[in-house]
Order: sequence, then structure tokens, then C-alpha cells
Amino acid sequence: MAVDSSLAEMHWKHDLLGSIEMGIVVLNKNYEVQVWNQFMENHSSIVPGFILNKSIFDFFPEIDEQWFKRKAEPAFKLRCPVFVIWEQRPHLFKFSTIRPITSQTEHMYQNITIFPLASLSGQVEQICILVYDVTDEAVNRQGIQTLNKELEKISRVDGLTGLYNRRYWEEQFELEYKREKRHDHHSSVVMIDIDHFKKVNDNYGHPAGDDVIRSLAHIIKKATRETDVCGRYGGEEFALLLPNTPVANVEFLTERIRRLVEKYTVIHEDHEINFTISIGIAGFKGDFKSHTHWLEAADQALYRAKESGRNKVVVAPE
Ligand code: GH3
Ligand code: MG
Ligand code: MG
Repeated sequence: MAVDSSLAEMHWKHDLLGSIEMGIVVLNKNYEVQVWNQFMENHSSIVPGFILNKSIFDFFPEIDEQWFKRKAEPAFKLRCPVFVIWEQRPHLFKFSTIRPITSQTEHMYQNITIFPLASLSGQVEQICILVYDVTDEAVNRQGIQTLNKELEKISRVDGLTGLYNRRYWEEQFELEYKREKRHDHHSSVVMIDIDHFKKVNDNYGHPAGDDVIRSLAHIIKKATRETDVCGRYGGEEFALLLPNTPVANVEFLTERIRRLVEKYTVIHEDHEINFTISIGIAGFKGDFKSHTHWLEAADQALYRAKESGRNKVVVAPE
């Protein structure tokens, strides 16, 4: 009778350990495995008969022995549980994971709990490690982070040209204005507008117009530096912020852009489209009351370029 009931007890313990969807490992003070449940067997392909009474470190070289012993010490000595979450360390046991949809990850992410197992005398001779598979949570979290980065980028960038959009460009421009107010860096701002752009749309259609806008953006991007802030300000208008670049240098640069554009031919379907641009430049001046004034100065210079025949660079008066 007594044998029967202890056998029955063994069975339910065995079933319980086997059916639980988490890893259960019991280690003694020498870090030798005392319990190794079905979950651990399934994911490691190591059967209990093979690993029992052997050091966990012999089987899992990925576990940093010193680090793990330091972690487990409070469980042995102070009898308090210890938690290691995946953000601190992605896993304790390097188990592969088969998740066809979320193929971004090869390994199971794990949260770990280590807690003391006290004997009747109150001595802690063993510790129990619980291994939770948190791969779904980790992958979702990382997915959201990637998505947020994408969104951040999208919200800064103009979809047609890949340059900064107006909102972001203006933010950067305002910041530069404030920096200039403190110390003059000889920064300049440039407005560029395509000449007679309506005709391009009228003659070749809107998609051809889009091609022209994209081509101009490409030319601008190639001609400027990484630190220059190039934005699409409106339909076929572009705004450039050139930090630490005095007007004379900007004049030289934009004149080059103007000539490049003049020589450039956009091929759209069977059409060869040539176009020109007008450019207004304004260097920073201490008496600008706001960043808007600074931009207006460039816009007025652009207006004068248009008025005086287009395909020109005009600098705002000092
Ligand atoms: P100007 O030399 O005086 O600048 O003449 P313009 O014809 O270029 O005149 P304006 O700058 O006022 O014209 C802008 C035109 O650009 C009007 C609009 O139909 C067109 N446009 C605005 N955004 C887009 C766009 O995203 N794609 C295309 N294809 N056309 C656009
Ligand atoms: Mg315009
Ligand atoms: Mg125009």
C-alpha cells in the first residue's frame, strides 16, 4: 500500500514537471543537476539520465560560470530569489527557436528565476532555476522598436525625394537660428525653386514633373555635405541650411548646382526634359528677429532671381 502511494506520488510529480511549459532545473551546491524536466529535455535534446549529477557548466559552455555563481549566491546564502530578465541577458541556455513568421530571432529569449530550496533543517542545499520562454514578448518589443525608428524616419523624410520634409527642416532651421544668436557661425540659408515648373506638368504630365523634382533633389544631395540640412520645402521648392558656411562659399556652391541642373536632362518615357532653377541666398544677420525673418530674406532674394530673368543665383543684401 505504502509503495503504491509513493509510486502514485512520483507519477503526478513526473507528469507535472513534464507538462509544464517552462524549464525547471534543480542544482546542488556544486552546480550539479538534480532535476531536469521535460521542457529542458525537449529544448536541449539532453535526457535527464545523461545530465543528472553532472555540472551544468560542462553541458552549457554559453553560461558564464563566474557570472552565474555570483547571481546564484544570494539564493544559497541569503535565501532570496534572483531574477534575470531577457533585457539584461537574452538567455541563460542557448536554445534554438523555430518561429517561421518571426524569423528575426534564432534563439529563445528567456526570463530566469533562481530560488532557494531549503531542507527541513532550514539549510539551503539546492537551488531551483525556472526558465520562461519569452521569445514572443521580446520579438514583439523589438518589432515595435524597429517600427518606431521607421516611423521617426518617415516623419522626417519627404516621400518623393528622400530629403527632409518641411516640418523637420524648419525645426532644424530654428535650432540653427538660436545657435547663431549665441555665436555667429556664418551659416547660410538657401531657397531653390524650379523655373516654369507648371509648363513641365502641362507639357509632359504630373509624373514627369515628379521625376524632375526627384532629379533635382538628387543633384542637390550629391552637391552638398552630410552636415548640410536639405529639405523639400514645398511642391518644387527646396530649402538648404548650410551651417558654418559663409555666403561667398554658398554662392559658389549654388552656382555649381545651377549649372549642373542647366546641363542635366531628365528622361521620362520618350521625353527629354530640360529645366532650370532660381536660387536665393541669405547669410545670418544678428538683427533678424526670428528664424522666419532669415528665411524671408532668402525668399526675397529668390523672388529677385525670378524677376530678373530666372536661372540665377541672387544673394540677399548684407
Ligand atoms: P516660376 O518660374 O515662377 O516658379 O513658375 P512655376 O510654373 O514653377 O510656378 P510655381 O512655382 O508657382 O509652380 C508650382 C507648380 O508646381 C504648381 C503645381 O502644380 C506644381 N507642383 C507642386 N507640387 C508638385 C508635385 O509634387 N509634383 C508635381 N508634378 N507638380 C507639383
Ligand atoms: Mg514654386
Ligand atoms: Mg517654380
